[in-house]
Amino acid sequence: MADGRGTERVAVRAHFGAVRGGTLMGLLTAGILALMCVYMAVSVTQETPLAGVRIAVDAGHGGEDRGVCYFEEGLIEKEINLDMAQRLAAALQDLGADVLLTRSDDTFVPLAERAAMANAFGADLFISLHVNRIPGHPECFGAQTFYFPSSEAGKRLATAIQQELLKVDPDNYRQPMAGNFAVLRRSEMPGALVEIAFMTNARDRALLQQETYRADVTEAIVRGIIVFLQGDTDG
Ligand SMILES: [Zn+2]
Repeated sequence: MADGRGTERVAVRAHFGAVRGGTLMGLLTAGILALMCVYMAVSVTQETPLAGVRIAVDAGHGGEDRGVCYFEEGLIEKEINLDMAQRLAAALQDLGADVLLTRSDDTFVPLAERAAMANAFGADLFISLHVNRIPGHPECFGAQTFYFPSSEAGKRLATAIQQELLKVDPDNYRQPMAGNFAVLRRSEMPGALVEIAFMTNARDRALLQQETYRADVTEAIVRGIIVFLQGDTDG
């Protein structure tokens, strides 16, 4: 009998132990779940800072309009712009943005149509991608971002993007600049036109042919957009 009671006591203690353990496990599980929820909520906001933002990405030129070319090195502006637009679109979508490409293949789209597409899309931002040139000035180099002269928001956007572009290329000293571009004039949202390099400069042509430069410029534009939007939210 003593053995039996002993067994019973042990069993009871074991039972309470299980309950206590269970409660503890339950609390721990609940705690871990709660922490996971907080972590996930935080990481979702951090990983998709562009959720709900609509961005029109405009690859300059296309079709019979080749833009500026340097055939000796196989560089054709319309192709570079499209490649960069696709990179930018993918990067922005990864961060939660809704992206409209004004062209996604080698077709000619009139400038007015590009802006109209962005307006119809209800884009919050318009980003146009081009390659620069200054005939007779092969010494000019460096990416440069333009904004429509009367657009204060466009100027802030272009400035944020240009600051990030300068980090990619420390030799670049170019500042954001006003430019009366049709796509910026006709689109209703803040916009920036990025000339990602000079086709008329040997150093820039070499950069254009580097995967790292294209990736770095894409990331810089994305960072600039995020900086601009954060500044806008902060008032
Ligand atoms: Zn162009």
